[in-house]
Amino acid sequence: MSGDGENILVILSSPSGVGKTTLTKKIQQKYQSFKISVSHTTRPPRSNEVNGVDYHFVSESKFETLIKEKKFYEYAKIFENYYGTLKENVDRTITKNDIIFDIDWQGTQQLSKFKNLKPIKIFLITENKNELKKRLLNRNQNTEVEVEKRFNAFDEDIKHWKDYDYIIINKNLEVCFKQIENIIVNSKKKLSSLL
Ligand code: 5GP
Repeated sequence: MSGDGENILVILSSPSGVGKTTLTKKIQQKYQSFKISVSHTTRPPRSNEVNGVDYHFVSESKFETLIKEKKFYEYAKIFENYYGTLKENVDRTITKNDIIFDIDWQGTQQLSKFKNLKPIKIFLITENKNELKKRLLNRNQNTEVEVEKRFNAFDEDIKHWKDYDYIIINKNLEVCFKQIENIIVNSKKKLSSLL
């Protein structure tokens, strides 16, 4: 686990549309040690998504069985669909790699309760709500109803900023990436100096 090894767990949360997925992929490309945690979800795949790469797409009954069997470190119902992080996947990956999680505030709260995990928690926001709406519309991945749902979740999402170690405004992707990079590099250094 991150406390007794050299690998770190990083959570990136944000209202939908802030650029989290792009940033997560950028980190993984630059730092080969990082693996992205692939969540389970009951949401249907988007046209560009691949099962097992973007998510493990499962039925609601399969997801509920996994909940009953206590297989998740955390799970949440978001926009009427379940999303969750399997314990087995995290425990296996952390022995060899750093892990980055793209999960919401509910998952962050649950993950933080596991004393062995000690995640570094980063919250990303846009500079204002209009910018978020623009990005949600531009990315063209959701129906109008879905854009509206994601936009309306913004107020609830940002209420939870206090649960995070760092808040970053994603005004410029490169600047934002650099800020995340600094956090990661410094956390790794700190951890190795404690070992
Ligand atoms: P999307 O449907 O746009 O891929 O994701 C919707 C939201 O679900 C995003 O805020 C994303 O961070 C969150 N999410 C994705 N996977 C998980 C997960 O495993 N657990 C939790 N709690 N949230 C997740």
